[in-house]
Amino acid sequence: MNFMDGVYKVQDIPFTDLADQYGTPLFVYDGDKIKSQYQKMVNAFDVKKLKINYACKALTNINILKLMRQLGSGIDAVSIGEIKLSLLAGFPPQDIVYTPNSVGIEEIEEAIKLGVRINIDNIEMLEYFGHHYPDLKICIRINPHVMAGGHSKISVGHIDSKFGISIHQMPLVHRIVKNQKIQVEGIHMHTGSDILDVEVFLHAADILFNQAREFDELDYIDFGSGFKVKYKENDIETDIEALGKAMSRKFNEFCKETGMDLTLAFEPGKYLVSESGYFLAKTNIIKQTTSTVFAGINTGFNHMIRPMFYNAHHDIINVSSVDGIPKLYTVVGYICETDTFAYNRKINQITPGDILVFKNAGAYCFSMASNYNSRLLPAEVLILDNKSYLIRERQEFEDLLKNQVEVPIFEKAEVDG
Ligand SMILES: *Cc1c(COP(=O)(O)O)cnc(C)c1O
Repeated sequence: MNFMDGVYKVQDIPFTDLADQYGTPLFVYDGDKIKSQYQKMVNAFDVKKLKINYACKALTNINILKLMRQLGSGIDAVSIGEIKLSLLAGFPPQDIVYTPNSVGIEEIEEAIKLGVRINIDNIEMLEYFGHHYPDLKICIRINPHVMAGGHSKISVGHIDSKFGISIHQMPLVHRIVKNQKIQVEGIHMHTGSDILDVEVFLHAADILFNQAREFDELDYIDFGSGFKVKYKENDIETDIEALGKAMSRKFNEFCKETGMDLTLAFEPGKYLVSESGYFLAKTNIIKQTTSTVFAGINTGFNHMIRPMFYNAHHDIINVSSVDGIPKLYTVVGYICETDTFAYNRKINQITPGDILVFKNAGAYCFSMASNYNSRLLPAEVLILDNKSYLIRERQEFEDLLKNQVEVPIFEKAEVDG
């Protein structure tokens, strides 16, 4: 977000112009920011072979996927839908890593047919692959039980987590792999989102390196993601340069020591797209109660659930009121349940009609949106080189009825004469 000549802009385009042109609520993505985040990540690591696989569940618009492909990224997919979207976006199957959890075997079979790489998440599946696909190279998701993650819902590495194969079960894994001659090309971990501490990665790296020695045909080690980005002005984010330095040194030493020629892989979602995104909403009403001033806006948790679901903080800027004196507002949605975006937040004086912009709306916002309350999904716009492109049309009323089947038993009620 830029503030120039008294106007809030994304690149050179005022937010209010975008609201006028495309309507609200509206998601806007700064493509140049995605590029610079990708580049920052690539530059941070100094290894012979680095692979970034964009965790596309964060934001799956096909144009974002195409942008990632253009940048040289691969894909981390968690569903057959994400695999198909990525193939449509032009990713070759070998650039897609599929990491299913609690997914049915039919879907996994379909993914195998499509030729993507498979990340195995449990021992039963490992044996299944050894039995049915002895020639297929696979990756194993290990849960190192390194505690990480900013919120219990996004921390996935703890002892009771449903993700990955526990590090304590690895002796069994090695026995199965040797016995069934399974070709393990990769090992993987992903301990959760919002990891601040570089040490967490380094500690987990030691654990994975120890495992890596046991696999003869290993091609890559994937350290997942969890990179934290700034949500507030003074937030700390993962120090990617420091992590890159320390991790690269460790990784290079390990390759040298073992003679293995490995690729270092990561699968960031949030880090690549969170800060690129802005969510624009219009103020419907200002309502003063005894103790609170509510600003009611034309959206709710149907479009952006992170504040309610994860207690996530998203900065909110009144781009229509540059000079308004800051006041305290509780910003709420129009959903018929409590859907509070922010409590007592200092925002420039809001009047009905003002456009509020939420920051960090690139990751897990549109991709988690729903039609709850029979509300329509917003439009999406991508900004590249100071030009705006509509990349998703706003839904229309007809979309609510799509797939609904009206059974004839209800059609008898005819009104006479
Ligand atoms: C969600 C997810 C990621 C991305 O996490 P971020 O915090 O968005 O970077 C990476 N890998 C796997 C397996 C995931 O499920």
